[in-house]
Amino acid sequence: MEVTLLGVAQDGGFPQVGCLKDCCEDARRSPELSKMPVSLGIRGLDGSCHMIEASRRMAGQFDLWNSVGAPEWPPSSVSLTHAHLGHTDGLGLFGREVMGSSGIILHCSSSMGDLLDSTPSWSIMIEQGVIIPNYWAPMEPFEPTPDCGFTLTAIPVPHRSELSDNHALIIRGDKKSLLFMPDQDSWRETLGEDLEILDWLDALEVDIALIDGTFWNYDEISSRDVSEIPHPTVTETLGLLGNRKQGDPEISFIHFNHTNPLLREGSNECRHLSEMGWGISKQGAVYHL
Ligand SMILES: [Zn+2]
Ligand SMILES: [Zn+2]
Ligand SMILES: [Zn+2]
Repeated sequence: MEVTLLGVAQDGGFPQVGCLKDCCEDARRSPELSKMPVSLGIRGLDGSCHMIEASRRMAGQFDLWNSVGAPEWPPSSVSLTHAHLGHTDGLGLFGREVMGSSGIILHCSSSMGDLLDSTPSWSIMIEQGVIIPNYWAPMEPFEPTPDCGFTLTAIPVPHRSELSDNHALIIRGDKKSLLFMPDQDSWRETLGEDLEILDWLDALEVDIALIDGTFWNYDEISSRDVSEIPHPTVTETLGLLGNRKQGDPEISFIHFNHTNPLLREGSNECRHLSEMGWGISKQGAVYHL
């Protein structure tokens, strides 16, 4: 089975609306530098297709997925990690105003489900049969559809929960497992006091981990109150990881804010991270699990 990374940017995408600084002006001049919000496209062993997250850039994500082999469309299932904007703002595209889909299984937590029920523009999609919510039990593997040939496992991850709770997802195929963890508030809250990142990934039996790399460091967003948007910075995570050693999983960063120098190929920060043995996720990357 095959997983395609359909976007690597934070919720706002890159370039970000209203940013006239060099970071985004460069991407406006050279559209090939632009990036879509994080999302995964998964093709099961039976040919069924599944999405993780529903972003407003789904049209471009469909084109990208199509360029590596036509996906079955609409997907059989969509899974949502949490309610924040870039992870859910494309859900309406499945509805009558756009694709007029029906019977898409929507996997999410019960907390996210409560929000679907209480949000009129989403609850009407449930009433019309566009989406069929199915709540997962944390830490219990499930098949998104029968015979798809892989499982998803939702791992609770603390992250600003004004709207819903948040989960990372492990996609487990016959050969390998991939962790998708776009957002978290802090390693301490996710791991507890003593746990190490590598021990945690080892306990979860993960071979490939795509983890929150929203900010390189907090200097890049000095105009914002960082307590409103907590994330472990990439520099903090690299400090915890140290250099990659033989036998370590493949870890690469995703969910880049428009200010993050990891979006600039060839930057000193990209070089530093690569020299330590870790990765910078590429939009369009395909993983065989
Ligand atoms: Zn996000
Ligand atoms: Zn910018
Ligand atoms: Zn979020």
